[in-house]
Formats: sequence, C-alpha cells, structure tokens
Amino acid sequence: MIEPTVYDLSSPGRHGPQLPVLDVPVAPLPDGYLRTDLPLPELSELDTVRHFVRLSQRNMGIDTNFYPLGSCTMKYNPKVNEKAASLPGFVELHPLQDPEMTQGAMQLLLELQVYLAEISGFAAVTLQPAAGAHGELTGVLIMRKYQLDRGETQRTKILVPDSAHGTNPATTTMSGLTVVELPSDDRGNLDLEALKANLDDTVVGLMLTNPNTLGLFEEHILEITQLVHEAGGLVYGDGANMNAIVGVVKPADLGIDVMHFNLHKTFSTPHGGGGPGAGPVGVVEKLARFLPGPVVTVEHVNADSDDEFERNNFSEDGDDFRLVWTMPSKSIGRVRAYYGNFGVLVRAYTYIRMHGAPGLRRIAENAVLNANYLKVRLQNEASYPVAFGDRICMHEFVAQGILEGAPDIHTMDIAKRLMDYGFHPPTVYFPLIVREALMIEPTETESKATLDAFADAMIQIAREAREEPQLLKDAPHNAPVKRLDEVRAARQMILCRC
Ligand SMILES: *Cc1c(COP(=O)(O)O)cnc(C)c1O
Repeated sequence: MIEPTVYDLSSPGRHGPQLPVLDVPVAPLPDGYLRTDLPLPELSELDTVRHFVRLSQRNMGIDTNFYPLGSCTMKYNPKVNEKAASLPGFVELHPLQDPEMTQGAMQLLLELQVYLAEISGFAAVTLQPAAGAHGELTGVLIMRKYQLDRGETQRTKILVPDSAHGTNPATTTMSGLTVVELPSDDRGNLDLEALKANLDDTVVGLMLTNPNTLGLFEEHILEITQLVHEAGGLVYGDGANMNAIVGVVKPADLGIDVMHFNLHKTFSTPHGGGGPGAGPVGVVEKLARFLPGPVVTVEHVNADSDDEFERNNFSEDGDDFRLVWTMPSKSIGRVRAYYGNFGVLVRAYTYIRMHGAPGLRRIAENAVLNANYLKVRLQNEASYPVAFGDRICMHEFVAQGILEGAPDIHTMDIAKRLMDYGFHPPTVYFPLIVREALMIEPTETESKATLDAFADAMIQIAREAREEPQLLKDAPHNAPVKRLDEVRAARQMILCRC
C-alpha cells in the first residue's frame, strides 16, 4: 500500500488557514511577486494533520520498536537529554558570540572532554568531529601528521583487519594512505602472524576495533599494541561501540593511541537518517598537540602562582580562571566549522552526568548480559549458527541465516519476516567475513520480556522456514513497500510521484 500524496488528497477550493477579516484596504501586489504556475495542494487543516501524522506512523524508531541493529547501538535515548539540549540558554547561543558570554557552554564542553578522557584513559579529547567516520578521518590525519613530524615520511600504510567496519579502509584512503588488509584467525581475533609479517617501517599504524565487529574481545590486544609500537607504528581504536567496555576497560590502558567515540551510539544521542551525530577523538599525550582546534582550554588567572595546585585546579568559588579557545601547537587544523554539534554534545554530557561512573559500568554489564542471553536462546532453541559461537560475546553477536532443513531461506528472508512480527531487522550481510550474517545488538536498555519476545519470533521464523518457507519469501506482508532493490533505491531515490 502506497500512501496518497497531498496532491492526491487535494480538492479545489479547500483550505486550512483561517485568515482574519481584512482591516486594511485591498491593494494589488506589485508585478512579478505573484506566481501563477505554482499548483499548491488544497486541503483542510484536518486532512493535512491526518496525512502527516499517518506518515510519521510509518516510521520505525527506537521509540516505537525493538531495534537490534548490530554495530549501531540503537539504545533508548532518555528524554531528559532533549530537555537539557533545549534549554534556552543553550539553544539561543551563537558560536560567534564573544567567549566572555559563552563561558557556561564552554565549561560544558570542557567537562565533557574531561569525562571522555577519564572514561577512555586518554590525555586529551576533541569534540569537533560530526560523526564516527569523521572522527576516524581526524584520528588518521593525526597519526599521519605525527609520523611526518618525526621525519618518517616513508610510512604510508595502515593495517586494517578484514572484520573492520567499511569506514576504516575508506578513512585510510581519504587520508592519502594505503590499506593493507589483515586476516582474522580461527577464533575471530586478528591473525598475529599476519600482523607480524606486515609490520615494518612503512606502517603508519593499525586500525583496530575492540570488541571487534564479530562482537568478540581481541584476546591478544596487549601483544598487538606492543608489536605495533615496537615497529614505530600507532594504534587507532575504532571506539564507535564502547557499549561493552564503558566503565570497565580504558582503551588507552590497552595501548590504543587514538580513538573516536560515537556519542550517537554509546552515549545515547539519537541517530539514524544521517545525523546529526558526534565523533569526538581522544589521544595519548604525545598526540595532543596535533588535535584539531580550536579546543576549550583553561586560562588561569593565577597561572603564575608558585603553588602547583593553584596553577592546575579550579578554586571552590571558580573565579580564578576563564575559558578560552586555543589552537594546539601542531594542529592538523579545523575539521569542522565552529566547535562541533553542540546540541549532541549537551545530550551526551547529560547522559554521562545522569549515570555517573557506577551507572556507566552497569551499561556495559547489562549490554553484554543481554547479548549473551539472546545468543544462547537462538543457538539452543532455534539452531541458528553463531560465528565463533563457542566464545562469550560482548555487546553483540553475529548469527547466520542458515537453517538446516530450509535450503532456500536466506538472511534477507528472515530479516524481512521479522518486520511482520514488529521488530526492526538486525544488521544483515555484515561483517563481510561471515556468510549470511545477522548481526544482533540488543543493547542494555531492553527488558527481558522484549528480548524473549524477539527470541520467540526468531524461533517461530526458523520453524516457518522449514514448514512454510513461502511465508518468509513473501515477507514483509504488512509494510507499505515490499522488497526494494536497495542499491537502486539509494542511487535513484524517488521522493514523489509527480
Ligand atoms: C557506526 C560505526 C562507525 C561509523 O560511525 P558513523 O557515525 O556512522 O560515521 C565506524 N565504526 C564502527 C565499528 C561503527 O559501528
């Protein structure tokens, strides 16, 4: 069923607005101001409201349905974040205002930098990048500049495991560097022998996702980072999904040198549909001077004090410092206009403050518990294969749409059938190294009842696959559009039928 457009609903002479009685003389509009070739739809207010509310109900979102989209961390976005971000004092600021008038907003940015640095173990953080992929580009440009700055101009390669998110090789190429793909081993870890064979003085560094996209914690992480460092390389951590480790593991303690966060995943700011998001980047001490700028810094009124504590800390009354914008000494430059997606940063700040340190740790514990619970139910009760399924998973796991006794059924059929049960399908056909991948990430915000309802649907679908496969082949049965040619739909988007 395709929704009618406002033009289909239009009827000549209908109109919505109620204009007040004219209390000035009628005057003709100047020539050229009135278009006669603009056919506007004619609808009553009620018809218009119903049309748009109906369209809005066609949307699937985290506020309407369970959304286990692997690698995307579709957790609940607490509404208190929205309230904080819409405070008039924040909404009505302009980035070109004098810093004297924006000290409060700058303090929020500074504190968020401090929190993210504390959570990750890094020395410094930039909040500028507008997305995860944008953070990656920022981080890799920092790595490149670091190597060039110390004269290692022959270093042009970035090592990327074959399980990596597609943005990792894309970032490397965008940075003017060459990708060298590394295989995974038979436990889903990065293959150590392949790493050793490729580490030499032409390597800028390694890009590593931990937990990786198979939902597995790298078992040799300390050895990996040590090997890369010994070869003069840096380790980039793809920290888009910190949900399994936030509050538990600090990536810098593992030997990671630079990492981006996805505030629109781990830190609960809304996402989907292309933004806005935020991909802050944290770095170790030796990379801090390469960060993009400007960054908020504290300028102490008593910076010359003999007392070290006074020099480095805010006083109780808070009147001995001001916040200023500075450019790190060897900055890679700006990566975005102004200071980042401020509204998103307020939401993440609110979320971190709301949870506090113990709360952040519980996020990770429950995210891992939920994923393992679902994984075991699907393995045991519906015999879905799970890639490296003998290992404990982290925040997600990769099942496979391969069912014994249903040879014609594929992952796409299972994903589409899930829509009939009211669930957003998991991520499909990624990571590329798993055949018929169904990447499932429940997140910590779902109840056991929701997890069970999803598991029951998956088990029921496995039964249907064997007994009534056509049900899956014809799915979705109730969606406004059926199966799209997704590649063509993305390239030739048809947004209206006019
Ligand atoms: C989501 C994701 C990214 C990219 O983040 P965007 O904000 O979509 O650019 C990178 N790496 C991994 C592992 C991700 O899950």
